[in-house]
Amino acid sequence: MTAAPRIGVLALQGGVREHLDVLRGLGADAAPVRRAQELRGLDGLVIPGGESSVVDKLSRHFGLADPLRAAIAGGLPVYGTCAGLILLADRLEDAAPGQRSFGGLDATVRRNAFGGQRDSFETDLVMPAVSEQPVRAVFIRAPVVLAVGADVEVLGALPDGEIVAVRQGRLLGTSFHPEVTADHRMHAYFLRELVGWRHEGDAHAPGAGR
Ligand code: GLN
Repeated sequence: MTAAPRIGVLALQGGVREHLDVLRGLGADAAPVRRAQELRGLDGLVIPGGESSVVDKLSRHFGLADPLRAAIAGGLPVYGTCAGLILLADRLEDAAPGQRSFGGLDATVRRNAFGGQRDSFETDLVMPAVSEQPVRAVFIRAPVVLAVGADVEVLGALPDGEIVAVRQGRLLGTSFHPEVTADHRMHAYFLRELVGWRHEGDAHAPGAGR
């Protein structure tokens, strides 16, 4: 794929604009998704941070939850950040009453996992699969991945071992918010490795020519 990929940003609540800006800056054809029919023809989808229980409720209210599950099952590349990671997880801890997720990612995720002074913080995260240099990671009332299935690759963890970035096939999830920094390597990784997009003139990149 060399033409600009069409990437949706789930736009029910949360940090939609920031993701659209980052994706467009990287050359993607990015558009907000509020209705099921807007899922059609996408090459990928970003589920932004926000409040996962609100996005869950709104997605059911607007009839998006089941089409989204079907799209995930059908292999749509999806990147969930923070609340988006919660929404991708098959199993939740400390969910709001009645809260559901879209699922697809064989992982257990705990909401609001960093209490007190660590409620919100920034750090440089070593993620060799993503980049040789550490990635700037901003955590805002962030979730953590407690357990993963055999098919899930752990991309990043904090020094104490808490898992904060995972990939399973075409699903990518991070506890942190790359869209609020000037460091756009997570989005670039998503477009390159999960969506399979190669820029024209990028012929020397690994896997180019697909
Ligand atoms: N605490 C939020 C939730 O449970 C996630 C926070 C975020 O996305 N920054 O959905």
